[in-house]
Amino acid sequence: MAKIIDGKTYAQGLRSRIAKAVTELKTKHDLTPGLAVVLVGEDPASKVYVANKAKQTVEAGMNSWEHKLPAETSEADLLALIDKLNNDPACHGILVQLPLPKHIDSAKVLTAVSPGKDVDGFHVVNVGKLSTGQDSLVACTPVGSVMLAKDALGKLDGIEAVVIGRSNIVGKPVAQLLLAENCTVTIAHSRTKDLPAVVRRADLVIAAVGRAEMVKGDWLKPGACVIDVGINRIERDGKMKLVGDCDFASCEKVAGAITPVPGGVGPMTIACLLHNTVKAACALKGIPVPAM
Ligand code: NAP
Repeated sequence: MAKIIDGKTYAQGLRSRIAKAVTELKTKHDLTPGLAVVLVGEDPASKVYVANKAKQTVEAGMNSWEHKLPAETSEADLLALIDKLNNDPACHGILVQLPLPKHIDSAKVLTAVSPGKDVDGFHVVNVGKLSTGQDSLVACTPVGSVMLAKDALGKLDGIEAVVIGRSNIVGKPVAQLLLAENCTVTIAHSRTKDLPAVVRRADLVIAAVGRAEMVKGDWLKPGACVIDVGINRIERDGKMKLVGDCDFASCEKVAGAITPVPGGVGPMTIACLLHNTVKAACALKGIPVPAM
C-alpha cells in the first residue's frame, strides 16, 4: 500500500516557517509583507477561497487587504484598482481571484499586475522567467505539488515524470519546475495516444486534468509517486464528495506514495501563496529571502 502524502501537515509546517520568517523581517528589516486579494462578483467558491487566503495571511503575521467589488464592476475600474495597488508600497502581493465576470478580459487584468507583485505567477514575465530558468514568482499549486513530490521522493534528478494536463495554471508550470529539477518530463493531454502506456513509464505522475478518478491503478508503474492536483465534485451514495483525477482506491495499491483528495495538494496552494508574498516583499525591498 502506498504511503499517504499528508499535504495538510506539510502545509501547516510551511506556514509556521513562513510566520517565523515574517517575524524576522519585521524585527530585522521593519518589513511586514502585505497581500491584497481582489474579488469581483459573488461566486460562492471564490468567496470561500478569498476568506481562507485572508485568514491564513493574517495568521502568518502579514498584512491582508480584501477588495470585494460588485459583479458589474467595469474593466476600467478594476484596472484602476490594480494600478493603485501596484503603486502602494505597503502592498507586496496582488492576487486577482479567477474566474472574473465575462465582460472583463482576464488576460488584460493579469498582465496589468506588476510582475514583482504577481504572487499568482501568471504574468507573462514570470512565466517567461520560469521557462528560461530565472528566479521568478511561480504559480502556487505547481510549486506546492513539486514540494510534495520532493518531500516524498528525495531528489527528483533523472527520474521519469509524466504530467497529465497542459494548462497555463498547472500543467505547463509544473512541467517547467520538474525540468528545472532535472526530471525527464513528458506532458500528456487530451490528444495523447495510449495515455495508460505513457503514464506507466513514470516514476512520478502529476495529474492535473479535472476528470474524476480518471487515472487507474493499473496505469501506474509499481512504486510510482502520484501527486493528484484534481479537485472534482461528484455525487456518490446520495452525497456530494470531492475526488481527485486519480482513482485513489486502485492507485494506492500500486503507487509508492500518493496524495489524497482532499488533504493533499489543496492545502499547499495558500501556503505557497504566502511563501510567494514573502519572496515578493523581500525582492521589492532588495533584501535576501529568509529560509522558509
Ligand atoms: P484545465 O485548464 O481544464 O486543463 C485540463 C488539462 O487536462 C488540459 O490540458 C486537457 O487537455 C487535459 N485533459 C482533459 N481531458 C483529458 C484526458 N481525457 N486525457 C488527458 N488529458 C486530458 O484544468 P486546470 O485548471 O489545469 O485544473 C486541473 C485540475 O486541477 C482541476 O480538477 C482543478 O480543479 C484542479 N486544480 C486544483 C488546484 C488546487 O489544488 N488548489 C488549483 C488549480 C487546479 P487539452 O489541453 O488537450 O484540452
